[in-house]
Amino acid sequence: MPQSVILKTLILDGEVSLAVLDTTALVEEAIRRHALTPVAAAALGRTMSATTYLCSWLKDGESSLSVTVCGNGAGGKICAAGDGDLHLRGFVENPQADLPPRGDGKLDVGGFVGHTGTLTVVRDDGEGIPFVGTSELVSGEIAEDFSAYFLTSEQRPTAFALGVKIAPDGHCLGAGGVVMQPLPGASEEAISAVEAKMGQFFAVSTLIEERGAEGVLRMLTDAPFEARSIAFRCSCTREKVENLILSLGMEEAEAVLKEEGEIAVHCHVCNTTYRFGAEEIYALFGRKHG
Ligand SMILES: [Zn+2]
Repeated sequence: MPQSVILKTLILDGEVSLAVLDTTALVEEAIRRHALTPVAAAALGRTMSATTYLCSWLKDGESSLSVTVCGNGAGGKICAAGDGDLHLRGFVENPQADLPPRGDGKLDVGGFVGHTGTLTVVRDDGEGIPFVGTSELVSGEIAEDFSAYFLTSEQRPTAFALGVKIAPDGHCLGAGGVVMQPLPGASEEAISAVEAKMGQFFAVSTLIEERGAEGVLRMLTDAPFEARSIAFRCSCTREKVENLILSLGMEEAEAVLKEEGEIAVHCHVCNTTYRFGAEEIYALFGRKHG
């Protein structure tokens, strides 16, 4: 499977920023790590695609942001986060929650997320207090919710088409989206052209599956574009977990060892368990075992 990418360029006489994302590999990795049901994969995949788009505007790898979609649906909370290097991670509260498809055959992402709740973005530019923006969910279908977020919290009209297509065997066939954002001062003509152009991306996951990101971008423009790769990477490391254990103190660590025979620390963001045996724990505290 090719690496996930985001392509960016300007369209409509340079008045509108266009981004096309192929996040198929990213979503496949999320499915593998979290054993997601198809509807959970669609909800998390759409959220991670939109989060990637937000991350693509961060200044550098030191900046980071996180998105929390907190709705009243079966899936519970959905969290995605990433940095300026486009290293993304994410999880859902109830990865095993499942729902029957909607009447039109599409996955019921709105039912999974819930139709009321909030979308919160926390952006840390690495300098001072992080920016926090919140908006009300519109439909729980994610794309409309991010459009509403941009309009109410950042005062930027932004059109999102997001999609995730899952095969009957649970694998991701195509995921990603198209985002159009008129630049400040864009003409009324450009803004209404965006609405007209977005209409052709109703089934964007199928377009990504069939044409790839570049093929989709070429439906809109022949202009050169900037391409950046996207990867699933959690911020957890064995070293960070070691520091966490050190902060417990030797007495507490020994008590856990006595009870459990090991110390296991789980990162729920990427579903990785770090295990430490007695030898390692004693070495960590600079002591000899026994
Ligand atoms: Zn992790």
